[in-house]
Amino acid sequence: MARWSRRNYGARDMLLPAVICICFIASSILFLVQMVVKSQEDNIIDLQNAANQTRTALLKQLEGDWQTLEGLAVSLRHLGLDNQTQILDTLKDINQGNTFMRMGYTDVSGRGYMIDAKGAVQEINLESMDFFKQAVEGGRSISNTFGDAYRNDKYVNYFAVRLEDATGKAEGIICAARQAIVLRKLIDMPLLKSTGYSSILDQNGDYVIKSIKDYDGDILPHNKERVVAGIKQGGANFVITDKQGHEQMIAILPLIENQWYQVSLIPAVILRASYTQTAFGIMTIIVVACGLFIWLINRQRQMAASNQMALMKIAYSDSLTGLRNLDGFKLDAGRFLEEEERGSFVIWYADFKNFKFINDVMGYEEGDRLLMQVADFLHAAEGMDCMSCRISADNFAGIIRGDKAGILEEEHGSILNYLKQSGLEGMLSLEIPMGVYRIRTGDEMQSVDVMINYANMAHKIAKEKNGSKLVYYDDAVRRRMLEDSMLETEGEQAIADGEFLLYMQPKVDIQNGSRISGAEVLARWQSPKQGIISPGRFIPLFEKTDLIVKLDRYMFERTCQWFAAYLAAGGRPLNMAVNVSRVGMFQPDFVEYYAGIKRQYQIPDYLLELEFTENILVVDTELFTELVENLRQQGFMCTLDDFGSGYSSLNLLKELPIDVLKLDILFFQKSRDLRREHIVVTNFIHMAKQLEIKTIAEGVEDVATVDFLKKAGCNIIQGYVFSKPMPKEDFERLLMTTDYLSPVLPDQQAE
Ligand code: C2E
Ligand code: CA
Ligand code: CA
Repeated sequence: MARWSRRNYGARDMLLPAVICICFIASSILFLVQMVVKSQEDNIIDLQNAANQTRTALLKQLEGDWQTLEGLAVSLRHLGLDNQTQILDTLKDINQGNTFMRMGYTDVSGRGYMIDAKGAVQEINLESMDFFKQAVEGGRSISNTFGDAYRNDKYVNYFAVRLEDATGKAEGIICAARQAIVLRKLIDMPLLKSTGYSSILDQNGDYVIKSIKDYDGDILPHNKERVVAGIKQGGANFVITDKQGHEQMIAILPLIENQWYQVSLIPAVILRASYTQTAFGIMTIIVVACGLFIWLINRQRQMAASNQMALMKIAYSDSLTGLRNLDGFKLDAGRFLEEEERGSFVIWYADFKNFKFINDVMGYEEGDRLLMQVADFLHAAEGMDCMSCRISADNFAGIIRGDKAGILEEEHGSILNYLKQSGLEGMLSLEIPMGVYRIRTGDEMQSVDVMINYANMAHKIAKEKNGSKLVYYDDAVRRRMLEDSMLETEGEQAIADGEFLLYMQPKVDIQNGSRISGAEVLARWQSPKQGIISPGRFIPLFEKTDLIVKLDRYMFERTCQWFAAYLAAGGRPLNMAVNVSRVGMFQPDFVEYYAGIKRQYQIPDYLLELEFTENILVVDTELFTELVENLRQQGFMCTLDDFGSGYSSLNLLKELPIDVLKLDILFFQKSRDLRREHIVVTNFIHMAKQLEIKTIAEGVEDVATVDFLKKAGCNIIQGYVFSKPMPKEDFERLLMTTDYLSPVLPDQQAE
């Protein structure tokens, strides 16, 4: 089924919105990356500011300690180093007022004494210590951290300042030991909300004081080269990656020139957290907005698609049956044929022979029901190999893969079977004539429209035949159609040229010794090109236009002309019947015209008979009744022709003021059950008799039927069994020789 669908709503429609979204997201990501890079610079500044606070605290501590010692050095200057007891007492006093572990002094050789807070004195030799040399040379110094020589659970730093004599010459140093923990507490001050920490490193990048938060302890050694490079620059900021692959931001600041450096660090993710959060928030909003955008576009697309589907449905399908309409079929079949090999398909066209009857007599509801049954059948059969449509009213057409011989015949047969099984058989004899056009490989230029038309032409010919016939479009059909259109166009001139002949078929009164009671006048077209053409060919064509009215009137006037001459020549009065088409009857001057001609030729009353075909009744019974009454007043006899061919009910007969009922025996003969047929015909005749209507049996071809009809009480027979229609001259000659006719055996029924 899918391949018959019309428009494919592909992902193509979503391409543009998707591209827009991708561009939007991409540029947002670009912007955010830039923002993060920029934020990194800001982050380092933040880290540096925080690190500076720690640095200030550290410097304050160091400076304070040195100043303490320097003040001491000045006050000890006048004492002289010889005065050992006094110096130690002073140191002891001062030591009690600060937090040094111990204080002491040495001479320039590094030998001296230290005294702790409790007054215990130790001899010391600092000769080899760097901080001693630095203090002697540079005035102040501090040692790296080392384990205390006196208490091995403590780590200490030694502070030292130069001791000068009155002339400013170095005499020795004053030193003091402070627990390293004091400085460590300072470097462990909260840095950026406790997420960062600092350590103190020496010039070589080795720890002097390590932060207790530096649990890893590996970050700096691991990146020693860069750290040392930063130290050599006298300070630096950079990002390193630790062993776990996490980024760390580092700020290196000088504490004591060429000696101590403060290295502060913080995991980059912590500094970036707020930026990352913002970026994540923005990104989420963007993605949600894009999603919303796509969703909206998609919804709109779906709505547009469903609207279009609805419109297509209205435009291309049939509201009653839900099948395609002709436009839809042309579109789908055209597309389908573009993809398939044309040579393997046929197009069919079909309708019901008597659909109008179903509608008129059984009601529109029943008609619709039948159409829907057909549509159901066609719908179920729809697939890769066939599809169909309802063109209009009861006209259906379709395309079917026809490469397998007989498939269409099968299909055709199965429609009939299906309808019969649907319980529709009982209401009428369903006849579905079908025309078929075989699509040929060379038909690429042929539109579906034209091909349907070919199938329709074949269908018309199928419809002329009895039963559910299947006719293929071929040269014969084409010729027929050409001829038909020629007949149609040439008809009018032919009437003017007098090419239409009057044939007369005798009517025989079987209740009166087979006496000729009259004749029916039948038209024959004597075409100079085609010879005699029978009414079956041209009447249906003429009925499509007003040409039939012209022909009827021509035939009637010629009949009156002949009849007048015949009577004037002493011919015995007869009953002359002419046919009146449905279109003719509805002409506004209908009665006026026929009565006028009758008067003009002075034909006596009740010799002229007008035959109206039965299906006139369907159109307007009331108008028909009125016209018949009018005609009888004007001296015409009125006949209901072809009774039994269609659907007139006997009840209807009661209300019609007709004089004659013409039964078409050929119609009855279609039934297989002769006994039933006889019962029906007998009843018609009886009923007519009761209503004082004469009966004529038409189409009687054998003697047995004559016998039966005679017994049944039928008045008149018109049929090959007595005579075929003959030219009016022959009929006139017949009348001159005899008043009676006897039945002729079939093999003697000459043309
Ligand atoms: P219809 O009015 O029912 O005429 C009777 C038809 O039955 C005639 O066919 C006649 O030849 C045929 N027929 C008579 N007896 C037998 C029989 O025993 N066996 C068979 N097989 N056929 C028999 P025809 O002459 O070919 O006319 C066909 C139809 O054309 C007529 O049917 C009538 O409806 C129409 N027609 C003929 N002439 C005129 C005309 O001038 N005006 C109009 N409106 N219709 C006409
Ligand atoms: Ca007739
Ligand atoms: Ca008839």
